[in-house]
Amino acid sequence: MTNQILASCKCGHAQLKTQSQPILQLVCHCADCREATGDDFSIIVFFKLNAVQLLGDLMPHGFISDLGNQTERLACGQCQQMMFDKSAGFPRMFGVMAQRIAPPFVAEAKIHVWVQSKLDQVILPEGAKIFEQGMA
Ligand SMILES: [Zn+2]
Ligand SMILES: [Zn+2]
Repeated sequence: MTNQILASCKCGHAQLKTQSQPILQLVCHCADCREATGDDFSIIVFFKLNAVQLLGDLMPHGFISDLGNQTERLACGQCQQMMFDKSAGFPRMFGVMAQRIAPPFVAEAKIHVWVQSKLDQVILPEGAKIFEQGMA
């Protein structure tokens, strides 16, 4: 039984395919993610870099996190929607914004990072694992 995971931007040009299951799922409360996605927080699902297949032209946006790690966000080259996250702190992982992953995938992120930048109206669920800053 293969469980293919497919993520796609709103125009369908940029896609990620993988047969592997996520190795890490994070809820990120940082201001960069907020700006990039327009949501109060982002759920980022990480896969093994060598297990993902990418389609379409991607447009990189470089960021330096507050810890000095180089982070690269990749948006669709056509519709500009933010799709992926590739951090130098996690060189073997490739992150995708959970909202972009097609059902039946359901994100289960219990690790919350950059909680120091969290919006007041966002309530952390019970049992959440909290990092004031990033993990790397
Ligand atoms: Zn973030
Ligand atoms: Zn697109």
